[in-house]
Amino acid sequence: MEILAASAPERVNSLEEHWMPFTGNRDFKEKPRLVVSAEGVYYIDHRGGRVIDGSSGLFCSPAGHARREIADAVYKQLTTNSYSPSFQVGHPASFELARRVASLLPDPLNHVFFVNSGSEAVDTALKMVMAYHRARGQSQRLRFVSRERAYHGVNMGGVSLSGMVKNRESFPVTMPNVVMLRHTFTGNELFCDGQPQKDGVELANDLQRHCETYGGSTIAAVFVEPVAGSTGTLVPPVGYLERLREICDEHGILLVFDEVITGFGRLGTPFASQRFGVTPDITTMAKALTNGSIPMGAVAVRDEIYETVTEASPDNAIEFFHGYTYSAHPAACAAGLAALDIYQNDGLFDRAAEMAPYFAEAMMSLRDHPLVMDIRTIGMMSGIEVHHDGVPGRRGQAMQKALFWNGCHVKFTGDVGIVAPQFIAERAHIDEVVDKLRRTLDEFA
Ligand code: PLP
Repeated sequence: MEILAASAPERVNSLEEHWMPFTGNRDFKEKPRLVVSAEGVYYIDHRGGRVIDGSSGLFCSPAGHARREIADAVYKQLTTNSYSPSFQVGHPASFELARRVASLLPDPLNHVFFVNSGSEAVDTALKMVMAYHRARGQSQRLRFVSRERAYHGVNMGGVSLSGMVKNRESFPVTMPNVVMLRHTFTGNELFCDGQPQKDGVELANDLQRHCETYGGSTIAAVFVEPVAGSTGTLVPPVGYLERLREICDEHGILLVFDEVITGFGRLGTPFASQRFGVTPDITTMAKALTNGSIPMGAVAVRDEIYETVTEASPDNAIEFFHGYTYSAHPAACAAGLAALDIYQNDGLFDRAAEMAPYFAEAMMSLRDHPLVMDIRTIGMMSGIEVHHDGVPGRRGQAMQKALFWNGCHVKFTGDVGIVAPQFIAERAHIDEVVDKLRRTLDEFA
């Protein structure tokens, strides 16, 4: 193992005991990459190197790192009420945060349930779907529809909906009755800035075929990421989400948008549903809800779902047997409120919208590189896919590491780098990310 440099905190005596998530542990521990501090769009690594953050962490910190306003709000909250339960007892910040989140969402998504992560949001949404159909006497709706290449987190509900093979092949005991739509990457429109023009309705009609095969009245819900994020930024073709909405309405199926990445301005609107003009029945979110500072997720539902579930229970009874010890944790709520204040006061969603064309052009400047197979962009989100080297994913993983040592963090999934700058990024920061990507591509060419 590499000896950690003096700039690493002294208490890092061993890397062995921490079993790291989604990481090649043996490889990492041979040559670790530790972030010891962060500010704005930069990380500082344990060797003292400056690393520009090209993925907003994991797409969760659009307002930049180490925001004082959030830290102060959390400090104040923790020294006032560091924990009170959210079962049968409340605290003011959760109600205010729910109101603020609802005000960012399209009507009638006005009821918000708090959780601690995107994975929990997805599993909570699955349970809400079941509770809703049961409450309205439609318990026969036992089938769920998801999509190839989908990522809905790592809890068992989300894994059941997963369309990414590595995330599910080791865990074969998943929910039954999940059927898949085709993913939306056709390869017909490479280097596409924005929505592909072709195939939208045709791809969405997969749902119609499921209705014809299984019976629309047996399907409970369709889960989709409006833009498939973790698989490498697959933007929905024109007409795709609209057609899904139409089929859901025809058959009484709930449409769930998983906006864990796209929520809070990533596409230049508060949520992707506004960008695409399609309103789901349920929206999941997490990540940027607190600017990534404290773990928190949420599920927002249409009024009618909340009312149906709550009104189906006798007075005084618990209506939805679900919740986490840390649902609506006071510190997370304080962080959420402070993050939403920053987004609003600094106009960061508009800033994302304004910067998006520059970002798209900068990313597309890499299209001439011989290693680049495709680039897809929308809002402040892009996927740059490199040709694999014979073993899918190997080059991408190696590139992520090399890029870090070249002073840039970008999250790769397989051979796709997912570039998602902070909304506070200046043009020069975007140029820096793109330059470092090019330099790293050159090293692999
Ligand atoms: N859903 C989507 C669309 C995601 O992109 C993610 C994480 O990237 C999740 C769910 C899971 O979120 P978390 O890692 O917070 O559990």
